[in-house]
Amino acid sequence: METLRMIVDIAKCVGCFNCLMACKDEHVGNAWLPYTDGQQKHAQKWIEPTRHERGRAPYTDLCYVTRLCRHCDDAPCEKAFPAAVRKRSDGVVLLDAEAARGNRELPAACPYGMISWNEALQTAQKCTLCAHLLDAGWREPRCVQACPLRALSIVKCEDAAFAEIAENQGLRALDDGPGKPRVLYKNLHRYTSLFIAGALTFMDGGIEKAAAGAKVRLSAGGVPLAEADADIFGEFKFDGIPRDTGAFRIDCALDGFKDLRAELSVGGESVCMEPLRFERA
Ligand code: SF4
Ligand code: SF4
Repeated sequence: METLRMIVDIAKCVGCFNCLMACKDEHVGNAWLPYTDGQQKHAQKWIEPTRHERGRAPYTDLCYVTRLCRHCDDAPCEKAFPAAVRKRSDGVVLLDAEAARGNRELPAACPYGMISWNEALQTAQKCTLCAHLLDAGWREPRCVQACPLRALSIVKCEDAAFAEIAENQGLRALDDGPGKPRVLYKNLHRYTSLFIAGALTFMDGGIEKAAAGAKVRLSAGGVPLAEADADIFGEFKFDGIPRDTGAFRIDCALDGFKDLRAELSVGGESVCMEPLRFERA
């Protein structure tokens, strides 16, 4: 049977917040019962791009991680409150609007903080994946439709087909927690891992120039890990480095110059190296 899943591509999101605004437009002041009551204008966000920075100037790297209910297959919220949570055959997880009313314990049942409390209506609420629209024939919820970069997408397919998509696109869950999420992330390394960046130069007639095209090799414990060419600014970057991985070595080569070598250590932050300068051979 074909079911729904969402893919969030962190490399595409620019933090325009159109998804959040589309969600507000759809749900604030509108009660789509029996799917959900209306959303509060300010006190609730059923979808939210959150900003994440890595590195430091001049090697800063910014991404946005858009968070929403994962529509878990093995939902902790459903386990805690089976009478208030309904898992549909298409994969969508809904809170029962009547059972959620007055249930102040419901928000704590989501380990990811995706159930919020509507103080005005005294009810617990979350993303419905715009199930009222899907049931009316829409192919995607409002947030997905409103995303100008297609950073959000809906996939409807069999489990086996999605497993292949997940494998090919390197999709991962945002959190290590329970639940078997149906919202998976592409390019998650922009959020979970670190990078090593630096710049290479050489002197030419008293002017310091960028060593564009220099060969850069990354290794650890004598094992080669990756290679890169310095760009037009002489800069290089190795991404996807796990935290707290310890000692690395950078070897750099440029025709007509002596090889360069630098040792560095990776802890909890990305490494922004001081510029390295080639000396003539
Ligand atoms: S993300 Fe939270 S609210 Fe959504 S289905 Fe999973 S446990 Fe329930
Ligand atoms: S609409 Fe798309 S690009 Fe804009 S913040 Fe949301 S996910 Fe990111």
